[in-house]
Amino acid sequence: MISIACNRSIKTFLLAVAVCSVSQFANAQDGDPKLTEIYTPVPPVVTPGKMNSDAPSDAIILFDGKNLNQWVSAADSTMPAKWDVANGIFTVSKTTGNIRTKQSFLDYQLHIEWRIPENITGTGQARGNSGIFLASTGPGDAGYELQVLDNYKNETYTNGQAGSIYKQAVPLANPNKKPGEWQSYDVIWNAPRFNDDGTIKTPAHVTVLFNGVLVENNFELLGPTQYIGKPAYRKPHGPCPIKLQAHGDKSEPISYRNIWIRNI
Ligand code: MG
Repeated sequence: MISIACNRSIKTFLLAVAVCSVSQFANAQDGDPKLTEIYTPVPPVVTPGKMNSDAPSDAIILFDGKNLNQWVSAADSTMPAKWDVANGIFTVSKTTGNIRTKQSFLDYQLHIEWRIPENITGTGQARGNSGIFLASTGPGDAGYELQVLDNYKNETYTNGQAGSIYKQAVPLANPNKKPGEWQSYDVIWNAPRFNDDGTIKTPAHVTVLFNGVLVENNFELLGPTQYIGKPAYRKPHGPCPIKLQAHGDKSEPISYRNIWIRNI
């Protein structure tokens, strides 16, 4: 009986605390709720694709399976991109070098799909190496590289595996699919901003979903990708093209498809 009485006492006390809390909450909500409601500006209507990997209505299509009209040679922008287009995809050319978009972009959302060939050979960095330079600041490998590589069962330095910002950011997970399967990156890129004197004002930030898995979470970049030494913002720039890397592996090259972008 003592136990029951005690329990009742505790329940009464807890009920009193709850009533008190609700009362305080109600007091905090006094006033006009309309004061915190926003009606303008109205977000633009965007029609999504049938699947989330399909381009929404306001996207710029960078590859629709037919041609590389949106791309040029990275070494010479007066020359066309000469990678191989067939069966709705295109494949890195071992002989014609990197390619880049004709258009330049500042802040954007990018969707891109890539496939390591099923018969891939090699190890480490020499196994399906390509890359997406999220802002290409010049010819060669200048820019900010999101690594493309086969890391299904292939070890390398972790800040150089697929999903890394090369030599800067280790991916938060390894969601690689087997060679031969299509994989995707969904990227949110916020470009760096520079002061008038050329110094960095706001560093670049990037978020990457790799096969739907978050691998880069608003990562703040130290500067453009640097193969040797520490990266830094040494040269100011504005909007830039996006560049795809022909790494020159001896094994079969990788392929891309379904590329679209939204300015944000
Ligand atoms: Mg690469």
